[in-house]
Order: sequence, then C-alpha cells, then structure tokens
Amino acid sequence: MLQYDLRGRDITDPAVLKVMAAIPREVFVPPADRWRAYANGPLPIGAGQTISQPYIVALMTQELRLNHEREVLEIGTGSGYQTAVLARLVKRVFTIERSPELSVAAQEVLKNLGIDNVEFRVGDGSRGWPEARTFDRILLTAAVPDFPPPLVAQLGEGGVIIAPIGQGSVQELVAAEKRYGKLIERPLCGCRFVKLIGEYGFLD
Ligand code: SAH
Repeated sequence: MLQYDLRGRDITDPAVLKVMAAIPREVFVPPADRWRAYANGPLPIGAGQTISQPYIVALMTQELRLNHEREVLEIGTGSGYQTAVLARLVKRVFTIERSPELSVAAQEVLKNLGIDNVEFRVGDGSRGWPEARTFDRILLTAAVPDFPPPLVAQLGEGGVIIAPIGQGSVQELVAAEKRYGKLIERPLCGCRFVKLIGEYGFLD
C-alpha cells in the first residue's frame, strides 16, 4: 500500500508515511472486509459509512502540515482510522461523530492501540466544537456545500482547514489557510466522500 499507492504518488512527508505504515488499517473495518484492508479503495465501516482510500487519508494528513504542538479538530470520526493517523502526529485530536455507535466503536479501537490523546464527542460537527476555543487545524471527512462558518470561526489565525466541498456525489478537496481572518483557498483534487448530515451540511 505504501509503495504503490502513497510513495508512488505525491505523498512524500516521511512522518506521514511512517505513521501510515505503523497503524494497522484492518482493525478499523468489519472482519469480512479485512482481506482488502490494504487495497487503495474506500472500505465499509457500518452505518452506511466508509473509510476513505489510503491515498486520500495520506494527502489530507500531509496537507495539514502537522507537528507535535498542533491541536486538530476532526469532523466525522467514522472508524477512527484517520483519527489514529492524526493522533500519532500531533499533540491532541478533538473529533466529532454524528453516529453514537461509530464513535463508541472508534473509541474502543483507539484504546486498544494505546492512543490516548483524543477527545471524542457525539453530535453535529458542522456546528463546531461545543466549547468555545480555536484549533490549529480542522479536517472534515464528510462532504459539505462550503466551509461551515462555525468551523471557520474556530480556526486560529494561520490555521489550515481541509474539506471535501460540493453538492453532488463527487466533490473537490479544498485546503484553506486563514490569513487576517480570511480564508485563502487551494483546490487539491477531486474526491468522493459521504455527505455530512447536519446544519451546515445536507439533510438526512
Ligand atoms: N474519517 C473516517 C471516515 C469518515 S466517513 C475514517 O477514517 O473512518 C464520514 C463520517 O462522518 C461518518 O462516520 C458519518 O457518520 C460522519 N458524519 C456525517 N455527518 C456528520 C456531522 N454532522 N457531524 C459529525 N460527523 C458526521
């Protein structure tokens, strides 16, 4: 997976490659799908949701430009795979998931991996972290029509936010940096994420 799907494309950040090599992807998927856990495709995780393909996880992680001082907010915990990748690269991850079942399952998997720098919440992540604070980095792993205003407000100056943006089943992955309170956007690539269901996402 690392050789053909990540290094062979434009994933060059050694820290990202190292962490993705170390985290077993199969523990995040149902037993029946484990045989294909290292193919470069999305995988079902229950509740009609999927883990993104490894290349997209790696690309988003690399584009966040992380280090061990960063505090990251993630919207859409899902299986917790992306959460685990982030947790190994930063000081603290704050993650929100709409489905209580998925959040509980992800908490269990991360606990078993010995990852303890993650705060989990259940709710509508498009409305932001429930307590007032800012984050250095924000990552949405479900598609939105545009960057949700509460999340832009919780992004610190100089911070980076990444989201799949679009109305249809195919979106554009967009990275944006906050400069003097304004977002400077940079499109990364086309992508295919499940929709965010919530106030600044889509209807159920
Ligand atoms: N990053 C995950 C995959 C996320 S799939 C992984 O690595 O496994 C998108 C997730 O977003 C799903 O789990 C879905 O339930 C969740 N989601 C959808 N709408 C949401 C919302 N408003 N707030 C938080 N999570 C949401």
